[in-house]
Amino acid sequence: MMKKAAIVGPRMAELVERPIPKPQGREVLIKVHVAPMCTEYKAFLEGKPHDCLGHEAVGEVVETAQEGGLFKVGDRVVAMPLSGCGECELCLAGDYIHCLSNPMMDSAMAQYIVKPEVCLRKIPDDLSYEQAALACCGLGASFGAIRKLGVSAYDTLLVTGLGPVGLGAVINAKFCGAVVIGVESNPYRIETARRLGIDAVIDPRDAEALAKIAELTGGKGPDYAVDCSGVPAAHRLCIDAVKRKGKVAFVGESHNETPIVISRDMIRKGIHLIGSWHYNLNDFPLLMNVIRRSRMTESFVSHVFPMSRIQEALETSVSQQCAKIMLKPWE
Ligand SMILES: [Zn+2]
Ligand SMILES: [Zn+2]
Repeated sequence: MMKKAAIVGPRMAELVERPIPKPQGREVLIKVHVAPMCTEYKAFLEGKPHDCLGHEAVGEVVETAQEGGLFKVGDRVVAMPLSGCGECELCLAGDYIHCLSNPMMDSAMAQYIVKPEVCLRKIPDDLSYEQAALACCGLGASFGAIRKLGVSAYDTLLVTGLGPVGLGAVINAKFCGAVVIGVESNPYRIETARRLGIDAVIDPRDAEALAKIAELTGGKGPDYAVDCSGVPAAHRLCIDAVKRKGKVAFVGESHNETPIVISRDMIRKGIHLIGSWHYNLNDFPLLMNVIRRSRMTESFVSHVFPMSRIQEALETSVSQQCAKIMLKPWE
């Protein structure tokens, strides 16, 4: 048996005992050393009882279903969110996240998880589990967007929403040498973004926000924008603020509608709008370089909780007085 985190009611979480899962086919069993927290606070607030929490994990392979696979017992790995078939053209190209036969439900806030080989990557020897744990949503989500946009040291990037994903965008963009303007109102997150080297922060409640972003960019608007908030008003701000012929990537998930006028916003302004979910796994070595060489990654992890304190960890996530939170399933 093993321990895993579960939602047991509105704003109530605890550990439960479950059987250790069994890998099949091209799957491996991973002993989880670090499970980063992401969007689980939403399920925590909703309170519908379930035990599938968490979609990010790093750990060591302790069992393989088949001999001769890509991984062996003892390998240290990053387990990416969700799943893929491992055989379709998207999986083979590194874009398993878009695989059609995709998602199995993840439950990474557990002492063990089963994952298919296609969403695993080996951790380089010189990086710790804690460092590698940033290669899922912490740095990975915005890394994918910044790669797709092509951000460089010549550019200014607007980042709307400086939660854990947006703060990751600041680290990735500063690593590329870009000027970064953030949009955020939460003082804790603004302060964290400043420590990470953000160049300016605009309050989204400011009626002059758009004009101030223009002013910071010599009147033309930022070259690129990435939304990490999932808020329609922030989507609009990205579209309105970005320069003519600029590009906007949407990373923060929203199931609400964002008003867009194709002619005005896209055709005549000439901008590209990109949806960006995770990153192409062929770029994993590049992201390892960010983790290895950026001096900012330590300021990015605000809390490390033993999984036995799951209630407190989720309350901290809800409070927004945090950056990236890591859970230790064996403590
Ligand atoms: Zn596939
Ligand atoms: Zn995530």
